[in-house]
Parts: sequence; C-alpha cells; structure tokens
Amino acid sequence: MISGSTQLICLFGSPVEHSKSPAIHNTAFEALHLNYSYLAFDISKEQIAQATEAMRVLPIVGCNLTMPLKTAVIPYLDHLSVASTLCSSVNTITNKNGVLYGDTTDGIGYIHSLRAEGFHTKGAVMTCLGAGGAATSICTQAALENFDSIYIFKRKNATYENTLSFAKNLQKETNCKIMVYDMADTSALESCIKKSTLLVNATNVGMGDDTTSLVDKSMLHPDLFVSDIIYHPSMTTLLSDAKAMGCSYKNGSDMLLYQAAASFHLWTQQEMPIDLIREKVFSTTI
Ligand code: NAP
Repeated sequence: MISGSTQLICLFGSPVEHSKSPAIHNTAFEALHLNYSYLAFDISKEQIAQATEAMRVLPIVGCNLTMPLKTAVIPYLDHLSVASTLCSSVNTITNKNGVLYGDTTDGIGYIHSLRAEGFHTKGAVMTCLGAGGAATSICTQAALENFDSIYIFKRKNATYENTLSFAKNLQKETNCKIMVYDMADTSALESCIKKSTLLVNATNVGMGDDTTSLVDKSMLHPDLFVSDIIYHPSMTTLLSDAKAMGCSYKNGSDMLLYQAAASFHLWTQQEMPIDLIREKVFSTTI
C-alpha cells in the first residue's frame, strides 16, 4: 500500500513504457514488504539535468537509467563507481542525503548470470561481439573479475577509435589483456573463438524478427559457453546454433534479472528474491 512514507525509485529513459523494471522491482518490494514504489518516466537527454535535480529535491532515493541516458547523466552526478568510470556508463543512481552516486550493474548482472550457470569466470577468455553500452559494461566487469583476455569485435566505423581507447585504458587499469578487431575480419573471429571459453553477443543482431547471426555455426565448439544478451526472442539463431553444436548457452533474461537485483541491493541493502521474480515476471527462460 502506498502511504505517506512510501519512498520513490524511478526509471529514466526514452522509451520506457515496455520496460520490465517496474514489474521486477515492485514485485520484489511487495514480496519483502518494503515501503517503496518504482515508476518509469520518459526523460530525454535534454531533460536529464532537471530529472537529477528533482531526485535531490523530492527526494527520490534511487533510479535506473536506460537509453539514451547512461552516458549523458554522468556530468550531473557527484560520485562514480570504478566500473562506471571505466566504461562511462551509469544505469543506477543512489541518492544518499542529496548526494548522487552513479554505478553500473549491467556488467555485474551479466557475470552473476554466468556464475549461476556454473561458468568459471577467473582466467576466462572472452570473445565479445559489439562495443556499445552493454558490451563495454560487460567487458569492464569481466576485466575487473580477473578474466585472462578479451577479444572485442566491432565494425570499423566512426566509433572504432573510441573502442580502441576504451580497450587500452581498461587494459592499463586491470590485469586483463584486451584486443580489438574489425568485425569484418572473419579469420580473426574464427581464431579468437577457438581460443575462447566464452562468446557473448552484445549487439542488436538477432533481436526481435532478425534471424541472422554474426557467427558462422562452424566456428562454435563444445568447450565454448555461448551467451546472447538478447532476451527477445529467448532463443536467437546464435543460441540455436550453439545448442546444435553441443555448447552450453544462455540468453539475456538473467542478465536483466541480476542487474536489477544488484541495483535493488544498492538502494535497499536487501537481496532480491530472484526465483520468485523469475517465476512471476519472466514467463520464458531457457
Ligand atoms: P548500443 O549501445 O547501441 O550498441 C549496439 C552495438 O551493436 C554496437 O557496438 C553496434 O556496432 C553493434 N551492432 C549493431 N548492429 C550491428 C550489425 N548489423 N553488425 C555488427 N554490429 C552491430 O546498444 P546496447 O545498449 O549495448 O544494446 C545491445 C543489445 O543488448 C541490444 O539487443 C539490447 O537489447 C541488449 N541488452 C540486453 C541487456 C540485458 O539485460 N539482457 C541489457 C542491455 C542491452 P557499432 O559500434 O559498430 O555501431
């Protein structure tokens, strides 16, 4: 029940109307009898300065950020976590007495979802397809969690240099070896996948009605864990190919769930009831 002491937590982004975050967090608040409410607000880049100021004034105790605000919000925050600094991305703000702390839980959520499947992260070798917001958060957390090497494949376009700078800095700040390749270099892709224990698709390829995959099925091997952070559809062509080739595989629904759980913990210091949320909010899992 909403009362005079109910505390507000928000999602800022655009569009937000199809987000699962309100259902995830409100279900968890109800299950744990926590007096919070989570609402989504359609906020543009031009409005983010006012939205963060509103957090301090009202006060809103925390929020999630989604497209297109994860980087745009940074100038309006007081503190950034190590991971957010390395990947220039914030998906969670915690308001402590008017001081705004920015963090990213996308990478943490991804790593937790792998561990839940029994994947060993220490010393892992990862091939990452894509270098956008989700990919850089994942690579950052992987490097912080002692992955041995990361091979990033990205189209050679206007943002290629940015990816090179990101990789160079991440390698300097961690013990992880990080290399960047042109996505069009299929022989490099084949050789990197051969050396990898993990392949992640962090691009939009395979999402919705798109039935293409960036990886030829013949490149997959049974020692490879294949993950696609897309969760709609729950079984992309990449994952169907992985299944056919005898690989372990996972879609992106648990990444979404575990990143929410990490944000939830930052705001409430409570553990999200993961199994209950999976059952109530996610109808399809693989
Ligand atoms: P983003 O910042 O726009 O990055 C998209 C990346 O995909 C870029 O690196 C882009 O390449 C690459 N890409 C797009 N089309 C491509 C193509 N045809 N060939 C090769 N590369 C292509 O988006 P994002 O926020 O990282 O999201 C990426 C995907 O992850 C989306 O499908 C999103 O739904 C999913 N996601 C899932 C979760 C989860 O919790 N499971 C969380 C966040 C995102 P360029 O760099 O060359 O442009």
